[in-house]
Amino acid sequence: MDKLINFGAGPAALPQPVLEAAAAALLRYKDTGLSILEIPHRGKLFTAIIEEANELVRELLGLGNDYHVMWMQGGGRLQFCMLPMNFLQQEAGYVDSGHWAAAAMEQAQYYGQTKVVASTRESDYRIVPELTNITDQLDYVHLTTNNTIYGTQLGQIPNSQSPIVADMSSELFSRQLDYKQCQLIYAVAQKNIGPAGVTLVIMHESMAQRQARDVPDILSYREMARQNSMVNTPPVFAIYTSLLTLRWIKEQGLDTLERKNEEKARILYQAIDKSNLFYGVAEPDSRSKMNVCFRLHRQEETIPFLDFCRERKITGIKGHRSVGGFRASLYNAISLEEVKILVRAIEDFTTHTTP
Ligand code: PMP
Repeated sequence: MDKLINFGAGPAALPQPVLEAAAAALLRYKDTGLSILEIPHRGKLFTAIIEEANELVRELLGLGNDYHVMWMQGGGRLQFCMLPMNFLQQEAGYVDSGHWAAAAMEQAQYYGQTKVVASTRESDYRIVPELTNITDQLDYVHLTTNNTIYGTQLGQIPNSQSPIVADMSSELFSRQLDYKQCQLIYAVAQKNIGPAGVTLVIMHESMAQRQARDVPDILSYREMARQNSMVNTPPVFAIYTSLLTLRWIKEQGLDTLERKNEEKARILYQAIDKSNLFYGVAEPDSRSKMNVCFRLHRQEETIPFLDFCRERKITGIKGHRSVGGFRASLYNAISLEEVKILVRAIEDFTTHTTP
């Protein structure tokens, strides 16, 4: 069967050259006579992989050696728990911009108090909270810069008196930003970086001094940084595949990818806005360039539209189960040409269906 165009939110599309190089390494890694699955994690080969990956992360995001790069397991959910476990002493701030933001805050209650710095829950998360300057003195302020389920995205990182901790799972490496404004950034790999099973964490060294309590080594950012992500056996293959994607991102150029991502989102929103059958869910100023959420005015057309798309090899556009509708995720591996196929499907379905 031909490869489908996967607009899924994660596990998501990866660039074809990355899949091919990962597949080759599964059989033989370089001239080692071993599969990448068999190489020892404390040997020279893997050390070179993780060092190159760490360096590329810093380079692509414009960060210096004062940031530790770590690769962890346990997904976004474990980060939700580790953050308060490591850093919450008195009170932490959370920006309530969607399901994942709220889920992160919920986990903090075990360790201390939380304060909702801003919330758009009342408007069904169709907008991102407006934030320019956070003046509260808090242990940290947690933001979700791109809300995968609702298709909203923050324009900029706000100024803050307290350290900013950002969940960038569904947007990291999709645009240029002043990443130095964050003291900790995390992103699950399965969207824009690599396979599920690894989470990228980037932490300013000042955060290592802020550990609020004794925690087991495997759950301590300070210890993870000290041991270069090797408190236990790291997910070698997931990290290697992430390295392949990082190399691909560098080759493309983050600025070029950003421009492409803007164009992809622009033509898709334009098609949705032009159609009298569909409408965009997020308020225009809050629209995400990574996850485009849209719906049909007549819900009964949902399955026919999914079938219509499937005939054109489009998959993964069903919205999150909690909100329904459609969601097209436009991560880096999705090309402009592929988005044009979806645009055409929206246009053709609109002409077919309109009485
Ligand atoms: N944060 C964001 C922004 C997400 O979109 C997701 C999942 N899609 C998560 C966290 C949770 O990730 P995981 O399933 O790896 O726990």
